[in-house]
Amino acid sequence: MRLVTVLMLLCLVGCAKDLTPGLVGCAEDPSPGSDCREEPTTNEHNLNGPKITYLGVGGWLLDWHGEGLLLAPSFSNPSMPPIFVRANEQRIADYLPDVKNVKIILIGHAHYDHLLDVPLIMQRYAPDAIAYGNRTAGHILAVPELHLKHRFINVEQRMYRVYCTTPQCYQANPDQWTKVGRVRFMAIQSQHAPHFAGVDLLEGSYYEDLKALPVYVRDWKEGTTLAFLIDLLDDAGRPAYRIHYQDSASNPPFGFPPLIADGKDVDVMIMCAASTSQVSQYPDALLRYLHPRRLLIGHWEDFFGNDLGRPPRLLRAQKEHQMLTRISTGFKDTRMVMPFPLSEVALRDDEP
Ligand SMILES: [Zn+2]
Repeated sequence: MRLVTVLMLLCLVGCAKDLTPGLVGCAEDPSPGSDCREEPTTNEHNLNGPKITYLGVGGWLLDWHGEGLLLAPSFSNPSMPPIFVRANEQRIADYLPDVKNVKIILIGHAHYDHLLDVPLIMQRYAPDAIAYGNRTAGHILAVPELHLKHRFINVEQRMYRVYCTTPQCYQANPDQWTKVGRVRFMAIQSQHAPHFAGVDLLEGSYYEDLKALPVYVRDWKEGTTLAFLIDLLDDAGRPAYRIHYQDSASNPPFGFPPLIADGKDVDVMIMCAASTSQVSQYPDALLRYLHPRRLLIGHWEDFFGNDLGRPPRLLRAQKEHQMLTRISTGFKDTRMVMPFPLSEVALRDDEP
């Protein structure tokens, strides 16, 4: 199984393509007649107003009236093959923005590319942050030497659930908001897409606290994958922005939020581009359900051993182009944005 894992991951990294803003599938100086394509990549910085910063992989940083919210950042990004993984202190120091004001870290699942860097970030850079995630993530963060057990809350037990009895699935347990300052969020039962050929390479859960942080990559077990509905609240406590976040592609109805009876639409949907071809109707079914004004595409770049100081490279194996063409023709009212890592996206419509 270990050899199969390595071969599959080597295929993925061997298929990376160079990328410049707006162009996919070509080198930095595209020539006429090449196979370059215009894509919705952006590379904005120093924007005014409410904004979200893409940190690469499944990581995002929201700043809302001085309160920060982190979505599972990953900077270590070991080179191939990632058999053994450790947090890279220097890369975190080099690329992590100022997160002193972060009170909330949301973790969708516990794979290394979503959780490996979280302990160090909580210890050194976000001293007031509480992490929220699934039970498995909690058992990993409970490793005694980290001293983080008291700074984790298991939201899996109160997630909005999906039940499946052949041949249908249905949902129950809605309206489980957690409110922190001017933000509230709800965990939703989601699903982890297979990595390759229908195989999930890193499946499994933990049911008791670990004694030491995992080093072998397959010991970063995913647990139950969660999506999140996030409301940024105005002065009166009403949702000013509603954001839906996923760190893995899923089959419907996994990841679908309940209908909230306040008339507020979803403003921003954050999707995961990796492994979309391994599930059905993603993100199309969710787009039809949510009708977001903006679709932010994450987890789209080749992150294995990447240099965040250089333009990112696209994962050819993920078939993003077919997906993006499908979305741009089928969902014309939704503005797609595929930001470069460490670049910003405005939440307001009148910003880029
Ligand atoms: Zn994963």
